[in-house]
Amino acid sequence: SSPSVIVVGGAGYIGSHVCKAFAQQGILPITFDNLSTGHNHAVKWGPLIEVDLCDRATIFEEIEKHSHVPLVVHLASSIEVGFGEKHPDSFYMNNVVGALNLLDAMKNSSINKIIFSSTCATYGEISNLPINEKEVQSPYSVYGKTKLAIEHMLQSYHKAFDLNYVTLRYFNAAGADESGEIGEEHDPETHLIPLALASAAGLRQRMKIFGNDYDTPNGTCIRDYIHVNDIAQAHLLSWDKLQNGLTKAELNIGTGKGYSNLEILKTVEKVTGLPMPYDIEPRRDGDLSQLYADTSRAQSVLGFEAKYSDLDFIVRTAWRFFKSKHQI
Ligand code: UDP
Repeated sequence: SSPSVIVVGGAGYIGSHVCKAFAQQGILPITFDNLSTGHNHAVKWGPLIEVDLCDRATIFEEIEKHSHVPLVVHLASSIEVGFGEKHPDSFYMNNVVGALNLLDAMKNSSINKIIFSSTCATYGEISNLPINEKEVQSPYSVYGKTKLAIEHMLQSYHKAFDLNYVTLRYFNAAGADESGEIGEEHDPETHLIPLALASAAGLRQRMKIFGNDYDTPNGTCIRDYIHVNDIAQAHLLSWDKLQNGLTKAELNIGTGKGYSNLEILKTVEKVTGLPMPYDIEPRRDGDLSQLYADTSRAQSVLGFEAKYSDLDFIVRTAWRFFKSKHQI
């Protein structure tokens, strides 16, 4: 039978792109998702098993049923940073307890390879840019803290139980598949590019830019935007390495280049051809001034290089998906 992969969170934004990329390589993606934030319609390339990571007994059962699968990709988590600050209990339960259940179910059924979605938010404020994996991680947000706790779990399970893992620390995931069939559809949306597209399209209020008094050239925050299909490719490369002897790695997945919030608005204006008025608002709690990746380790360990992350292409594909979703 053809190879397959379990994709926990396969109904989500990044997960659906990962599933498509695996399917295109002839690897059947089996999505595990509770559909709390993912979408049924985004699961197109393999079966959907509706299951919640917090339901330990069912996770054990379902992983056991699929114990022929060599590898799990784990992308399911709570991600809304502001919500995490107010409801840490829910974040720790869903992210940390959920991951613990998953790892224990894998241990129980002898699946010993995992690719885990982590985040540059695990670093906290780093003055040494671009950010290297060797930096001491000191996350500011509850979101970043839960992701770091899971990174530590993987390291401990590797040592004690021979679990092999690749932790991918994504920078800012953005863009959409060129087909326009899948893309970013968070509810509520909190991310800069989809919000800016909705504002440009007149579907919401004017853009609010959170702070212009940061220590950056134009005073607005700087982020490293990586196309979601580049992130998907990083998973294929990680799969390949884990199947061929890699035992553990923590890797930044970014482009190495940062763009300011105002540069993003300018690009949205250019790509959509629509005016992009905005107001400067106070800083948003938890925002760090600049985050962009040192990409050399992912390059040397995986041979990874961003190919789809030209900013125009990111915004163009995000806009195409946005228009098809809203029938503009
Ligand atoms: N941002 C903004 N207005 C918005 C949404 C986001 O100014 O309506 C800013 C945010 O403060 C940060 C940057 O855009 O500086 C990227 O934020 P996003 O939430 O997209 O990603 P994050 O870097 O927080 O993961």
